[in-house]
Amino acid sequence: MTIQDGKVVGLSYALKNSKGDLLDRADGSEPFVYMHGAQQIVPGLENALGGLKVGDKKDVVVAPENGYGEMNPQLKMTVKKDQFPGVAEIQSGMQFQAQAPDGGPGMVFTIAEVKDDDVLIDGNHPLAGETLHFAVEVLSIRDATDEEMSHGHVHGEGGHHH
Ligand code: ZN
Repeated sequence: MTIQDGKVVGLSYALKNSKGDLLDRADGSEPFVYMHGAQQIVPGLENALGGLKVGDKKDVVVAPENGYGEMNPQLKMTVKKDQFPGVAEIQSGMQFQAQAPDGGPGMVFTIAEVKDDDVLIDGNHPLAGETLHFAVEVLSIRDATDEEMSHGHVHGEGGHHH
């Protein structure tokens, strides 16, 4: 069996940036599980995994446009501290979810810098603009169940429990 659309895939991986810093990982004791073809992982990685089989190892380099996107300078904004009512202390690194105009969940942004009453916020994904270096090993492949296919996500171990 090889990885193709509609397969549930278990991976171990290490993700590094171009400087070699480890950003994220999943090891064999707690594999990362996803449904192939359901756009649950960045496109550059999903495309590279197609056709692999259990036991295959692959190093995948993903450019920002096939990863978390380019850095968008327009998503960096300066706001005033009093726009965060109820937050005792605003610190860089904190994340907030903005309210969308329709009242639904909006963009997640990160506090980039606090300077006196000014707060620099950044709505880019934390990995925007990064070239992603994945080292991946395929641990398992199975067919998605009909129920998983209709829900568009994985159930059970490593997936949704409802
Ligand atoms: Zn479900």
